[in-house]
Amino acid sequence: MRTYDIIDSPAAAAFALEDGSGTPGDPPAQGSDTAGSGAPHSASGNGSDNTEYEDVCYMCRRSERTAGPLIRMGHGLCICRDCMQKTFDAFQSGNVPAFSGLKMEDISKLSEKLSGLNLAEMTGITGIPEKQRVKKKSDKPAERPVFDRKKIPAPHVLKAQLDEYVVGQERAKKAISVAVYNHYKRIAADPSDGVEIRKSNLLLIGPTGSGKTYLVQTLARLLGVPLAIADATSLTEAGYIGDDIESVLSKLLAAADNDVEKCEQGIVFIDEIDKIAKKQNMNSRDVSGESVQQELLKLLEGSRVEVPVGSGSKNAMVPMTTVDTTNILFICGGAFPDLADIIRKRISSKNGIGFGSELHEELDEGQLLEKVTVEDLRRFGMIPEFLGRLPVVVSLEELDEEFLVRILKEPKNAILRQYEKLLAMDEVKLEFTEGALKVIAHRAMEKKTGARALRAILEEFMMDVMYEIPKDDNIGRVTITEEYLEGKGAPLIEMRGTF
Ligand code: ADP
Repeated sequence: MRTYDIIDSPAAAAFALEDGSGTPGDPPAQGSDTAGSGAPHSASGNGSDNTEYEDVCYMCRRSERTAGPLIRMGHGLCICRDCMQKTFDAFQSGNVPAFSGLKMEDISKLSEKLSGLNLAEMTGITGIPEKQRVKKKSDKPAERPVFDRKKIPAPHVLKAQLDEYVVGQERAKKAISVAVYNHYKRIAADPSDGVEIRKSNLLLIGPTGSGKTYLVQTLARLLGVPLAIADATSLTEAGYIGDDIESVLSKLLAAADNDVEKCEQGIVFIDEIDKIAKKQNMNSRDVSGESVQQELLKLLEGSRVEVPVGSGSKNAMVPMTTVDTTNILFICGGAFPDLADIIRKRISSKNGIGFGSELHEELDEGQLLEKVTVEDLRRFGMIPEFLGRLPVVVSLEELDEEFLVRILKEPKNAILRQYEKLLAMDEVKLEFTEGALKVIAHRAMEKKTGARALRAILEEFMMDVMYEIPKDDNIGRVTITEEYLEGKGAPLIEMRGTF
């Protein structure tokens, strides 16, 4: 098939004239973005190089960074050279009946005519939707950030900040603080001496509701970096029903306001990672288990990935951009049921029969999980390459009743404080007896969903209190008692001036 050099083709020249740049494909000069008909650009502002967003080829949706200089057709429409070339090829091939017999001269005449028309208005095509537009990268070569100890919180400082929000989980908070500190040092480190610092991606092991997501959310908020939370169960191998692996990065890009540079320094949390363990005795293709682990490898390690912008899936109408995952911190989390048994078996087989073997029987699940090794996780079904990319493994403590009571009242934004604040706005003091807190914690334990159950339980009986109290302006204090929660009485109500 004959190919045309777009630079010299008359039709391209016609489009190029329209954008006023003189050379086809070159970005127009500043202020010339409305050349041609003189009409302003579409509302979304595509097709101009003086916005903070990158222009995107209207046909293939690749950005200028990926597709090369775009031909600007005015009225917010841009097209890349590849698509333009394909269009010419279609004209020339004779395969499209409507175009057969058309000569190049006819095409150039036609395009000259078209260039005078407002294609955007005629076709209703007004450019790329806002959420699918990518912010321009700065053209300056990326400088390695200077390591400034004052800017990156030292591990003890970060942990102290986490302490304000996350109760207990001392080991996890310490491990996360050190991993994050090392992560940012690694970004700033000079690799020229041959010593390349490995990524400190993390694996958090803990039952549901033990605060894994909350810990990562708090961390991202304290650091002021974008965070994406993905669920490993929804991920499948490319080409199968489910989300592609790249959808994880699409979420991070959206969290970074489509700013690729910001996105490349963010945090990705992949929950339920234990659900993509290798399935035992599988006869069919394991598209959501081992294959997903395989595909995640490239993200965890650090690579340049083509990511759909503003959508979780790749398709012809979604613009793509390239995200480098080298400096993205990946944290995986999972409950890993039965892992404790695997650890117990390993310890007992090592110790054999006799004195040592009795010790492991006394260890509870939490203590066993503290002793987790890569070998145990491999037995669970995680592939060695995947585990190799998650060098820091931490287990979270299991929550007991006492722990749940602390979660209720100690964090800076504890649920009880939130209710206290709401009632304080009505100038009413809210109090809970110790017995009441224990009842709430006990009920939450029964639900077996960890600390997540606390809010639902509180919501249940606080609704009546929040409804009744504002009725009487004289009420000054409400105390929630154990009896009230057990349905044996009402909350203790005291009038203003009586306490
Ligand atoms: P997981 O991701 O482990 O299933 P979450 O992070 O969603 O659990 O925890 C559920 C809720 O429990 C969080 O929103 C948080 O309010 C609370 N929570 C859990 N653990 C703690 C903790 N250690 N300190 C404070 N709040 C906690």
